[in-house]
Amino acid sequence: MNSNKIEKVAFETAPGPTVTPKSAIIAGGGIGGLAAGIALEQAGWQVSVFEQAAEFKAIGAGLTIWPNAVKALYTLGLREDLEKMGVSEFAGGFFTEKGELLAKISYAGILERYGAPILAVHRADLLDALLNKLGKDRLRLGAKLLDFSQDEKGVTANFSNGETAQADVLIGADGIHSKVRKKLFGHKPLNYSGYTAWRGVAPTPKKPFEAGETWGKGRRFGLVPLNGEAVYWFATDNRPEGEPHDPAHRQEELLTLFDGWRFPVKELIATTPAANILRNDIFDLPPLDKWTVGRVTLLGDAAHAMTPNLGQGACQAIEDAVVLAGCLDQSAEVPLALEHYEELRRGRTTRITRQARQVGAVGQWRNPALVWLRKQLARLLLPRLQDRQLAPILNYEADRVAKTGVILNGPR
Ligand SMILES: Cc1cc2nc3c(=O)[nH]c(=O)nc-3n(C[C@H](O)[C@H](O)[C@H](O)COP(=O)(O)OP(=O)(O)OC[C@H]3O[C@@H](n4cnc5c(N)ncnc54)[C@H](O)[C@@H]3O)c2cc1C
Repeated sequence: MNSNKIEKVAFETAPGPTVTPKSAIIAGGGIGGLAAGIALEQAGWQVSVFEQAAEFKAIGAGLTIWPNAVKALYTLGLREDLEKMGVSEFAGGFFTEKGELLAKISYAGILERYGAPILAVHRADLLDALLNKLGKDRLRLGAKLLDFSQDEKGVTANFSNGETAQADVLIGADGIHSKVRKKLFGHKPLNYSGYTAWRGVAPTPKKPFEAGETWGKGRRFGLVPLNGEAVYWFATDNRPEGEPHDPAHRQEELLTLFDGWRFPVKELIATTPAANILRNDIFDLPPLDKWTVGRVTLLGDAAHAMTPNLGQGACQAIEDAVVLAGCLDQSAEVPLALEHYEELRRGRTTRITRQARQVGAVGQWRNPALVWLRKQLARLLLPRLQDRQLAPILNYEADRVAKTGVILNGPR
């Protein structure tokens, strides 16, 4: 055990005019933490990412990565990886549970309009690509952040593996239950959305099918092709928070819940390995008034956990990473750079969190009159509404914000 070891993340001061690289501790090796690590390394910082999990086991199902985040990932040098891993330009629709088409979804033209495609990827593939780009030697596993302190010179953090690290900045990318957030701002209760979500990846059905979302009463099912071989699906149902459940019966329960739904809903549930079906109660974090204290800030779900209804949680974490590194790169003063980062990012993520919650609330309507109303609205307005809602989200260019320091799509 290296219990009393103090690890200086920064290089020792070199003689002569050489500039000493600044150093960063990142708590959390999820999508946000790894993306921030890459962005900071590119800006010439020394980075160490501390992850509580003992092994880098990329769990999860699929993810949609929208053009705003695809562009940010290009900035991080992941264009080639993304081209290999993702399916883009998929089409589909919004359907009733019996299969009636309410509105078509087409992402054709998205590349021309927003400068990048929309991609559906396996979370494991994205995490692998991020870690390879960062470099495995930058990641400490089995290292849960326990505590930290700061003064005008730097930050010191202690980890469950006995390590103590010092650096110029600490970034809390430690997810929705962030320890860093709690220490900075105290306990902030999460908002329960009123529904639970299940996710899985199934083999592609042999018969032709249409991707998209299917809406029932208080229940939804979405499916997106990941590649020729696999389909990512998610399901939701209105449930009380923290309902006791038996993982051994997850698949059976879903087959009952979605009995009679359009093809290939039941087929996808039935062909997913039962042990790989994930279940989460869905929460978001009420917007924080601040993300930063001195040399410590928050990023990704730790700062702005949102419901998954717009597929933007990870996308926003990736944008955060690029903007944060830009701010730190351009200012000699770490606390000022962090304040600037927060100013650039807080309005946008607050607005997207609110929109995602609203979309989820409508999607989960179960009252028959409201369900009828939703169908009419979907038929008449959905493509136009979707377009209006998505444009300001998708046209964001994190790289440009990082370089110019101009707030794009800030609070209205
Ligand atoms: C059902 C569902 C579907 C979703 N679909 C999409 C989608 O299609 N597109 C999209 O963009 N987003 C989607 N999201 C959201 C996305 O998953 C999250 O927003 C994203 O994973 C946040 O990344 P993060 O790195 O901030 O946090 P996390 O992924 O939670 O990573 C945090 C990491 O920190 C580690 N950690 C925690 N505490 C400590 C500690 N004390 N010390 C060290 N390490 C610690 C954790 O082990 C974890 O590895 C979805 C979410 C759900 C629930």
